Amino acid sequence: MRSEWISRLNYGTLKGPCRINVPLFNKVLNPRTATATRWISDFAALFVPRRCAGCDTTLLRFEECLCLGCEEELPRTRFHEDPANRVEQLFWGKVQLEAASALLHFARTGMVQHMLHRVKYQQDSETGLFLGKLMGEELKASPRFATVDTLLAVPLHHKKERVRGYNQAQLLVDGIREVWPLPSVGKELMRVVRTPTQTKRGRLDRWLNVKEAFHLPDPEALRGKHVLIVDDVVTTGATIEGCVHALRAVPDLRVSLFTAACA
Ligand SMILES: [Zn+2]
Repeated sequence: MRSEWISRLNYGTLKGPCRINVPLFNKVLNPRTATATRWISDFAALFVPRRCAGCDTTLLRFEECLCLGCEEELPRTRFHEDPANRVEQLFWGKVQLEAASALLHFARTGMVQHMLHRVKYQQDSETGLFLGKLMGEELKASPRFATVDTLLAVPLHHKKERVRGYNQAQLLVDGIREVWPLPSVGKELMRVVRTPTQTKRGRLDRWLNVKEAFHLPDPEALRGKHVLIVDDVVTTGATIEGCVHALRAVPDLRVSLFTAACA
């Protein structure tokens, strides 16, 4: 399958011995029709090959972020239309959400973990935007998220964001907006407590830790909106609970959640 793609893309359809697809040949090799950016990216690829965010193999020119194999094997949840899906159940009896879902299933080892690690710790903005676009495509097609009118990335503490240089949730929002151009709010919700890494904490500890972690300086700015909270991964849901807790001050607000992955 893959080799067939390559031959179709690079050489066109061969109709006999030594016959080539002339228009395609011209497009690929004629310096007047080749774009400067492609020359540059092909040249750069000689030295720094683009790698698949899922399995690290070298990407072909037409592959964006993931190789064809990984893209086909993405563990999509496809449970957005189920009001009793696993993500929604995390919040039952705790906070009110209109709808909640995730794009992918997360496993500690594997493709999704690899991708999210690159987005979070290796400044891989291309993978962040790519995941965001996939999220946007599924959100746009989902009736349960149809009334969302504002996107909100779960904020990082400003010191953490300065050290990292970016907020990975905002990258996802930027990707979503490429296919679903809704307004996004950034500074309306602030992370005021710098929470330490949470991976080894118990559930109660985590909750106490993030319950007061967010602050909303101007609740009126979001009055009457349907806000979609966006984050990279949801595990216990404690961070999201913290966000929704802070958003409760907004009159007539509806809140939904969509993450790149759920554990
Ligand atoms: Zn791959």
